[in-house]
Amino acid sequence: MASSSLDRNIPVDPIDTPFGVFLWGGREKFDRRRDIHQELSSNPIFSKTAVVLPSIARKDAWTRAAYQARELIRLKLERGWSHTHFREAIRMTDNMLPTQPQRFRIFMSNLDRQMSDEQKAIWIPKAERFEIFGSYAQTELGHGSNVRDLETTATFDKQTDEFVIDSPTLSSTKYWIGTTGVWATHSIVVAKLLIDGKNYGNHLFLTQIRELDTQRLMPGVEIYELGPKAFQGMLGTDNGAQRFHNVRIPRSQMLARNAQVLRDGTYIEPKNQKHSYGSMVTVRAIMAEITGWDLLKAVAVCYHYTRYRKQFRKDKSQQIETTVIDYASVKQRLIPLLAKGTALVLVGQNVTRGYDEYTAKNLKTGDFSQLEDFHLQTVGAKVYSTEITSHGVETCRIACGGHGYHALSGFGRMYANTANALTYEGDNYVIGQQVPRAILKHYKNKTEGSLPSLSYLTTIRQGESPTPTIDSETDWLKPEIQQWALEKRLANMVQAHIEDTAAGKDTSYTCHALTMAHSDFVYWRGFRDLLQPLQHEKSAFLDQITALFQVFSLSILHNPHHPSMAQALPLSYTQQRSLRAAHDAAVEDLATNHLAGIIEAYGFTSYEMDSALARADRTPYEALFEEGAKNSEMSGDKMKHLFEMMVDTRQLWKRIEAAKAHKGDMQAKL
Ligand SMILES: Cc1cc2nc3c(=O)[nH]c(=O)nc-3n(C[C@H](O)[C@H](O)[C@H](O)COP(=O)(O)OP(=O)(O)OC[C@H]3O[C@@H](n4cnc5c(N)ncnc54)[C@H](O)[C@@H]3O)c2cc1C
Repeated sequence: MASSSLDRNIPVDPIDTPFGVFLWGGREKFDRRRDIHQELSSNPIFSKTAVVLPSIARKDAWTRAAYQARELIRLKLERGWSHTHFREAIRMTDNMLPTQPQRFRIFMSNLDRQMSDEQKAIWIPKAERFEIFGSYAQTELGHGSNVRDLETTATFDKQTDEFVIDSPTLSSTKYWIGTTGVWATHSIVVAKLLIDGKNYGNHLFLTQIRELDTQRLMPGVEIYELGPKAFQGMLGTDNGAQRFHNVRIPRSQMLARNAQVLRDGTYIEPKNQKHSYGSMVTVRAIMAEITGWDLLKAVAVCYHYTRYRKQFRKDKSQQIETTVIDYASVKQRLIPLLAKGTALVLVGQNVTRGYDEYTAKNLKTGDFSQLEDFHLQTVGAKVYSTEITSHGVETCRIACGGHGYHALSGFGRMYANTANALTYEGDNYVIGQQVPRAILKHYKNKTEGSLPSLSYLTTIRQGESPTPTIDSETDWLKPEIQQWALEKRLANMVQAHIEDTAAGKDTSYTCHALTMAHSDFVYWRGFRDLLQPLQHEKSAFLDQITALFQVFSLSILHNPHHPSMAQALPLSYTQQRSLRAAHDAAVEDLATNHLAGIIEAYGFTSYEMDSALARADRTPYEALFEEGAKNSEMSGDKMKHLFEMMVDTRQLWKRIEAAKAHKGDMQAKL
């Protein structure tokens, strides 16, 4: 292990400790991270300091990302990396490459889940050896969330045994399509299937969009790269706008695992409708796991910087100023995020693991019975993890004061690359409605027993659980009190939702709060269950993980994500005060006794954090001065071509005054 010469506990390489291995998801995952780290940090093409990305033009940044993608493909093919290894390597570049993990997986997952065995035999090997580059084209200029009203058509031509893919209107232009602007050769296009004038609804069509030998567009395909994104984000992804002008593809390229079109135009209906959300579940399951890491990385940068930064003296006798992390204002913002990030990662890893194990079996047996539960779990996890992460990353930036706003702090990149996830894979306020819908359906039908993630509804149905005695702040540390409070809040919100729905109200705003409250409970329960084996084993890091659990539990109770959630848990004034006191004490305990150990166990390396505020080999001031100020593309003589203009600007007043005086003289003469 190489550690920092500055003794700021910022590792150069991943540190192998039992707690670290546990947090990173076990030995296999930890070793994979270490191997990828070794590979990338020693390869100049993946250097994070050789180029100041925010200072270069977008197309140069994309070009660099494309070369990085190529190098990762080379490494995958040469070393025989698994898909997981490859995806995690892409993520470590932090650059949203054209091969970005979600896109890679959604393309592969659709081939895998939606193609017939004969189709898979042809296309999966091509995709796996990157003979073709794929994208997923669903969203259109005119419709995203409302998939049913997409306008792109795929008309079956019986004469030629082909589908004709067409974009009949401007609003049917496929838009936002990741990696389509420049990179992809094939798109899985979502289009309305038309046979003999009859509309059979949306189906998937593998459509070649670029020639394999030249990368030029196929006849009838019109594609543009989308242009810059908000916050200068996703520099490595070429999202595209894509139109089809009667593009012909063979009938064999409709993805035909479920629905099929026969040679004579007969339509064979899918046997099971549930198959259609399998690929969405797959991508959201990855998001559940990976999103928390983005938050934890931001927390780690904020920790290292606020442990370095000093401001004011709390009392006059102090020789040196107070380290800013010692202020409640910083601790109270940062430490709950460390606990929430931990919950997102640990529970998210379980969701992903559970889903992977399920699909490994289910793809062979065709058993879809648990898919609805995974769908619910992953929708909730997607909404919950992206809300907490994107707001959390921004909180970390603000907690670092002015230097947090420097692009080299990395917070801008982290925010830009996490805030987008509130929208893609389904806008949170739209897909968040699926959880309350399922709650309502199963509550009414008394069928929640079939879905483990809704099992709490049985408790709610059993009516008023007696309010437990909550006399002191230590009562709030008891899991049974926390469970009562989370369930009570949820029960009240479910009740309000039932009434609002019955009254015909638009519940699309309150649904979001209910999904967050549902997920609070699901994550709390998942985190609690993870602690149990550690308690039995008397794990060496039990104290640290328990401290994280307590801060997580109390922060989701004390400081809920929606104003309406606080009102849904009726507490007396004294109980509210004791909850707040318990929360503050848990934060203080973690800060004083466990924080350094937890940060060390996570052990984000200088390479992974990629922030001038958290370098292993220099202080934040050295990094900001050297890499930021001295290295700026506008420092020193680099702007000298404008010096003359600026000097001249300072003379403008003289010329204007002279002109006015001259005009005055002329008028006087007249
Ligand atoms: C970075 C990025 C990458 C993307 N990559 C891809 C890709 O590779 N392929 C692809 O096909 N798509 C992609 N998308 C598109 C993305 O999936 C959609 O933008 C997303 O699903 C949201 O849909 P929308 O844009 O239609 O939003 P809209 O539905 O138009 O949302 C606008 C507003 O209306 C609200 N709203 C809409 N409907 C309702 C409702 N029923 N109830 C209450 N409120 C509602 C929303 O909450 C939101 O506030 C990407 C988008 C982004 C930002």
